[in-house]
Amino acid sequence: APGAHPALQAVHLVKDFKGFRATNNVTLSINEGEIHAIIGPNGAGKTTLFNLLSGFLKPTSGEVMLFGERIDTLQPFQIVRRGLSRSFQISSVFPTMTVRENVLVALQSPSNLPNQWWTPVSRLEELGPHADQILEDVGLTHDADRLAADLSHGEKRQLEIGISLTQNPKVLLLDEPTSGMGSEGVARVIDLVRKVARGRTVVLVEHNMSVVSELTDRITVLQYGSVLASGRYDEVRQDPRVIEAYLGE
Ligand code: ADP
Repeated sequence: APGAHPALQAVHLVKDFKGFRATNNVTLSINEGEIHAIIGPNGAGKTTLFNLLSGFLKPTSGEVMLFGERIDTLQPFQIVRRGLSRSFQISSVFPTMTVRENVLVALQSPSNLPNQWWTPVSRLEELGPHADQILEDVGLTHDADRLAADLSHGEKRQLEIGISLTQNPKVLLLDEPTSGMGSEGVARVIDLVRKVARGRTVVLVEHNMSVVSELTDRITVLQYGSVLASGRYDEVRQDPRVIEAYLGE
C-alpha cells in the first residue's frame, strides 16, 4: 500500500499565460508508491500542470516539492537527477536506430552519466545488460533489433517508457500513455504501468476512465485550472461536482 510520505507536491501553484490563468492555486500531494491520475475536461489545465511538475514550465507563483525539496527553481536535467522523469514524446525516439540502440543512447546521455559528456565504445557495450533489462521490463525483448520507425503506435509508447526508465526515476510522469490505442494496446499499457510502478510513484494524465479506475490509487480532477476534487477514484467519481464537470464533454 502507498506510504504516507509525499513524493511529489504542488503548493499553491499558479501559471499565467499573458493574463490567462491556466493553473489556479493548485495544491496537491502525491504519496510515495502511489499511482495518481490527473483528469479533467479538455482545457482544464492538465498539460500545464504536468509541465510545471516536471520543470518544463516555471510557475508564476507557488512551489513544486520532490521528496520535500523544492524543485521548481531547478533546471529540467537537475530535476531528472533528483529522481523525477517524464515519459518522452515519440519525437525523442530515433526512427533510424533500432529499439536497443535507442535505449543505449538514452543510457549514455549526460543526465545518466554525470560528469561525462561522451562515452567510449567500451563503456557503451558495458551498458548492454542494462539496456536488455529495460527492454525486458517494457516487453520489447523480441523487438530489440527492429528499427524504431517500424514499431506500432503502442510499441513506440513502450519504447518511450523504456527511455524514461533509463533515468531510473523514483517518480515517473506519463502523459496520456494510452492515447490513440485500441483495446489491446490499452490492456498492454495497463500491465506495463503496473509493472513500472513497482517501487515507484507514477503520475499520469489519462482520459480513459476504465484505465483510471483500474490503475490508480487516487486522482485529482482539474477544472478551469483549479482542483475540483482529489481523493480515491471510487469516491471522487461520485462527487456531484465532478459528474457535472464531465456532463459538458
Ligand atoms: P488540458 O491539458 O487539460 O487540455 P492545457 O493545460 O493544455 O489543458 O490548457 C489549459 C488552458 O491554458 C487552455 O485554455 C489553453 O488554451 C491554455 N494554454 C495552455 N498553454 C498555453 C500557452 N502556452 N499560451 C497560452 N495559453 C495556453
